[in-house]
Amino acid sequence: MHQMTLAEIARGLADKKFSSEELTKVLLARITQLDPQLNSFISLTEELALEQAKAADARRASGERGALLGAPIAHKDLFCTQGIRTSCGSKMLDNFKAPYDATVVAKLAAAGAVTLGKTNMDEFAMGSANESSWYGAVKNPWNLEHVPGGSSGGSAAAVAARLLPAATATDTGGSIRQPAAFTNLTGLKPTYGRVSRWGMIAYASSLDQGGPLARTAEDCAILLQGMAGFDQNDSTSIDEPVPDYSASLNTSMQGLRIGVPKEYFSVGLDPRIAELIQNSIKELQKLGAVIKEISLPNMQHAIPAYYVIAPAEASSNLSRFDGVRFGHRCENPENLIDLYKRSRGEGFGPEVQRRIMVGAYALSAGYYDAYYLKAQKIRRLVKNDFMAAFNEVDIILGPTTPNPAWKLGAKNSDPVAAYLEDVYTITANLAGLPGLSMPAGFVDGLPVGVQLLAPYFQEGRLLNVAHQYQLNTDWHTRTPTGF
Ligand code: GLN
Repeated sequence: MHQMTLAEIARGLADKKFSSEELTKVLLARITQLDPQLNSFISLTEELALEQAKAADARRASGERGALLGAPIAHKDLFCTQGIRTSCGSKMLDNFKAPYDATVVAKLAAAGAVTLGKTNMDEFAMGSANESSWYGAVKNPWNLEHVPGGSSGGSAAAVAARLLPAATATDTGGSIRQPAAFTNLTGLKPTYGRVSRWGMIAYASSLDQGGPLARTAEDCAILLQGMAGFDQNDSTSIDEPVPDYSASLNTSMQGLRIGVPKEYFSVGLDPRIAELIQNSIKELQKLGAVIKEISLPNMQHAIPAYYVIAPAEASSNLSRFDGVRFGHRCENPENLIDLYKRSRGEGFGPEVQRRIMVGAYALSAGYYDAYYLKAQKIRRLVKNDFMAAFNEVDIILGPTTPNPAWKLGAKNSDPVAAYLEDVYTITANLAGLPGLSMPAGFVDGLPVGVQLLAPYFQEGRLLNVAHQYQLNTDWHTRTPTGF
């Protein structure tokens, strides 16, 4: 039962092969049995899950239909869930029970999805390895000595290990696509503004975007359908109609123009990954795609720009955690300044503190023009590169990551080494474009992802290409041993 995709579950429920309650019980038992190896959950919500599953079964019995009605999912632990701990992977919010549901949580619940729990993540979504969580590192089910990627590592590890079919995640600089690549999943970062950020605890507000992590493009289409849409509570939410993502999965790829940026195949890329990417290009050519070399000349400036903009926004967003209104408060403060200092010093881990300091520095008088303003100008150049490229091609294709999942702890003493691994993913966030990662093969038994980028609001095109690719390849069906 645990092997089923969301699409298979929807068919099984519609055909009355099993109930949502039965399925929910099987998966909850599986999580209890197997998750101690992975540490992919911060909280399990058994009671809520069973309640929602029974309600979904009742709705089906009364004739209601829907691909998510009775489907088990989990939420990355930065989506606010009413009355349930929403920790953001931080000691700061270990005691925080959200007073309301995030829009994404409310929409999925209304569609009948069943919440099994809240998944582990890098603290405040800062990281690429899921090692900065206050709740401990998450392990990669493909090799328990390796990281699952981050910051949505809990969602990725849980779905890859077949603890559940799909989960929500967020992507500020790659945190949906990179863990998807590291764990053999399909993950989609939508266009900025496509999915509401209301109730999604902010890391870098101009970059953050929620999206689905699942095993197949077909399942990403189902989950995205439940997440996307205009929300008046989010001032950056865009009031555009949401297309039927499942309906366009089988569109022909004949004549589709795929651009491959020459900058992607630089020295930093593992040659074994380069070869797998070339194989995926050949596969897409067989399906009718036309390949064209393109250039994204400002790509090399994207990492430094991102690592100024993201910490700058984070330093501002995280100022609300002051020991007064939310979360951790130190014992016996001597005065207000002592309360702020010790609550924040005790509540935030080292990576979060590092970024707050970098961000506060970049925004301070005298440095603002030199760092923040400069980074914003680079951001515009990166976007312009994409706009020029999308005049010539329909999709941009390349590796999701330069290397496969590294060993736990391997980059802990050198944060910049981890930042460099984001080279292929962060440009889409800087430009606000949609991006998808899908399985493309293995290196040393570890999964490799291929990334597709599309123009604004063309999530359907990404899902269509990925689905066609998945109908003709079987990488996405491989299961990690032991799960
Ligand atoms: N690795 C990037 C960072 O640490 C991206 C994280 C994310 O997308 N949340 O900022």
